[in-house]
Formats: sequence, structure tokens, C-alpha cells
Amino acid sequence: MAKETVFAKIVSGEIPVQILAETERLIAFPDMSPQAPVHILVIPKSTAYENVTELAAAEPETLAEMIQVAQQLADEHAGGEYRLIFNTGAGVGQTVFHVHAHVLAGNLEESSLI
Ligand code: 5GP
Repeated sequence: MAKETVFAKIVSGEIPVQILAETERLIAFPDMSPQAPVHILVIPKSTAYENVTELAAAEPETLAEMIQVAQQLADEHAGGEYRLIFNTGAGVGQTVFHVHAHVLAGNLEESSLI
């Protein structure tokens, strides 16, 4: 079970962000510290899941929708090609324990997420 995180405050509107996509189950917004020309986060509105493994087990349809939205965002912002990253665990760089997909596109040479 995820604890209260900064992303819960984004979902609730307590922390304002530029919403790039929204459905009943998820939202997408720009990463505040972009590691690529296009760097968008896609997150479920549910605060119940710390990582993609938990989400896949409990709500596979939400995970599928996150991937569909990632493609739509890449189509809109980056000509359709993108990289999707789910950091899972502090040891590999996960800092926010509310599952999120990093959608990266453009020139990724300088990205610290690779
Ligand atoms: P992680 O390292 O957990 O995979 O990625 C967390 C990401 O969330 C980081 O890339 C970080 O820049 C982003 N982030 C953290 N807090 C905020 C915030 O308040 N607003 C936005 N837009 N991004 C955030």
C-alpha cells in the first residue's frame, strides 16, 4: 500500500500541475525536472499502488490505459516514438512511491534515466 506522496497531492489538486491528459483512472503531467526534451509522468489517480508490479496485479486495465495514454502523448508531442520507464525500488532510483510511468522522447543522449 502506497503512503501519502507528492503525487497524491497532485491527484487531489493540492499541488497544481499542467494536466496533459486525464481519464477517469489516470492523469499525465510534465516532470518538474525533465531528463529529456519530452518528459511526462503518467500516474493512476489511485494512491493504493507503490509500483508497477502492484498495479499490474490489482488493476491491469489501468496499466494498459497508462500505456495507451503514453502513446497518445508521444504522438502529440514527439512524433510517436518514446521510451517508457517504471523505476521499481529505491536502489534503482525510485523516489516517489506512487506508481508512475516516465514517458521520455526526443534526444535521450543526456538522460540520467537511461
Ligand atoms: P522516480 O525517481 O521516483 O522514478 O521519479 C519521480 C519523478 O517525479 C522525478 O523525475 C521527479 O522530477 C518528479 N517529481 C517529483 N515531485 C514532483 C512534483 O511535485 N511535480 C512534478 N511535476 N514532478 C515531480
